[in-house]
Amino acid sequence: MTFRALLVEKDADGAVSAAMQDVEEARLPEGDVTVAVDYSTLNYKDGLCMTGQGGLVRSYPHVPGVDFAGTVEASDDPRYRPGDRVVLTGWRVGEVRWGGFATRARVKADWLVPLPEQLSTRQAMAIGTAGLTAMLAVMALEKAGLSPLSGEVLVTGAAGGVGSIAVALLSRLGYTVAAVTGRPEAASYLRDLGAETIVAREELAEASSKPLESERWAGGIDAVGGDMLARVLKQTKYGGAVAAVGLAAGAAVPSFTVIPFLLRGVSLLGIDSVMRPYNERVDAWNRIAADLPMDKLEAMVAEYGLSDLPELGRKILAGQVKGRAVIDVN
Ligand code: NDP
Repeated sequence: MTFRALLVEKDADGAVSAAMQDVEEARLPEGDVTVAVDYSTLNYKDGLCMTGQGGLVRSYPHVPGVDFAGTVEASDDPRYRPGDRVVLTGWRVGEVRWGGFATRARVKADWLVPLPEQLSTRQAMAIGTAGLTAMLAVMALEKAGLSPLSGEVLVTGAAGGVGSIAVALLSRLGYTVAAVTGRPEAASYLRDLGAETIVAREELAEASSKPLESERWAGGIDAVGGDMLARVLKQTKYGGAVAAVGLAAGAAVPSFTVIPFLLRGVSLLGIDSVMRPYNERVDAWNRIAADLPMDKLEAMVAEYGLSDLPELGRKILAGQVKGRAVIDVN
């Protein structure tokens, strides 16, 4: 018995390449649950794993794909039975363990989440880690006291995966959303998702030597990091909060001082989706099913097959993928 997978291999010279292959099922890793994968998706990390960057993959050959959704085929765990629909994100699956760019996956039952009734496996992958993370960021901002009455909320990296879903979620929840993008041609896409204001990337990309700037944002969801995160924090209103989600522009924030924390009581909220405990994942998936407008989600989606992945991986690393790429693995 074999399954189809995108296998990443490293040759004797250290060059990494990815190609479609038929793989013996006996080579699936250890785990309690075997899943027939319907859909996977593309995240920034998948771009790194397919091209051998970032030191995420520890051993080759490797099957990338940090997310998948499908149907349980076999289970040694009483929580799951054949026929159950499940979704997996994170837990370093697709990085240090074989992931979802395949027609079969085998994982620990602890890592799976039952798919909410209202969602199809395709919708689950249109959401994926990007959407889960956007939801976790919204929930963290709510916990910090943000409400639609607080004022305008800024989303950076807005035309990307996390950003697009953050814009749609916040807008549906009644927030006034400003969206930062480096792609002027994405403005109408972002307005359709619910952004009221489009902020050009250049406006916030340069470092500022000022410890504070004029107060503009009640809160923010930042997928970009670097100097842009510093600028957003310096512009956040008294008592506001910013959820730090990503590092598309870099991990270091050299132009930041603690002054916004001390003089304006601004909070910086760290968001991790990978090791998030089970109950919080279930809550977030249920919130997504309730709050994410599915017509807007569909507007973000472009669908591809497994063989498109190597090129998509290069594109996402270059910031050229708009919205959500869903992978029909079959
Ligand atoms: P995408 O590539 O889809 O989106 C990133 C967006 O950031 C781009 O679309 C672009 O938006 C913007 N961007 C890219 N490069 C730059 C730059 N140099 N300066 C300013 N803006 C830039 O990736 P994802 O949405 O999947 O992920 C976004 C980030 O979040 C990544 O860093 C990822 O690793 C991280 N992440 C973290 C998670 C967590 O658990 N904390 C989970 C998921 C992702 P635009 O074209 O609109 O300007």
